[in-house]
Amino acid sequence: MLFDSHVRILLDAGAALVNATTAGHDGTEAVDVPTGRALQDAVREAISREDYRPTVSPATARALGDVAADLRAVYAAADGGDLDRAAALVNDLLERTDARPRLTHTETGWDLHFHGPDESVARGWAAGLAAGLALALGSDRGGRLGVCAADPCDRVFTDTSRNGGRRFCSTRCQNRVKAAAHRHRSR
Ligand SMILES: [Zn+2]
Repeated sequence: MLFDSHVRILLDAGAALVNATTAGHDGTEAVDVPTGRALQDAVREAISREDYRPTVSPATARALGDVAADLRAVYAAADGGDLDRAAALVNDLLERTDARPRLTHTETGWDLHFHGPDESVARGWAAGLAAGLALALGSDRGGRLGVCAADPCDRVFTDTSRNGGRRFCSTRCQNRVKAAAHRHRSR
């Protein structure tokens, strides 16, 4: 396993949050920043799991939407090979979210969690998402935060492939680029 499962959860949630709440393109579809109820739903969906479905208030949704814009900047810097900038951005996020590592006992043993100074959904997740990126960048897999290479798509991903060669957010984008290259060749 490339990252500890808890770190994977944080990285997956962070990428889902960025992809659901920041403007740009998803595949060839333009994406706007959702607002109101749609933003609440998008944030809840991004951080929920089978056994965890938190309540996301309008204020929580706005706070995590703001964090998503900061997370996107980290992915963009890392994808462009500027790990110094990515690290500086993450350090700034760690400081602002006041991430505090803490061992918490779960059914399976002790897990390292990164809650902020209070247990609110917004502060807890902001700190956790910042810590997830810090662990990714601080590992020998720092270059594995990516932005989709299938123009105009700009959705983000964590590359957990064995060879670290992932370039696309989804097989949908990968197939679109492959098909275009094939058409180009056969012309
Ligand atoms: Zn894509």
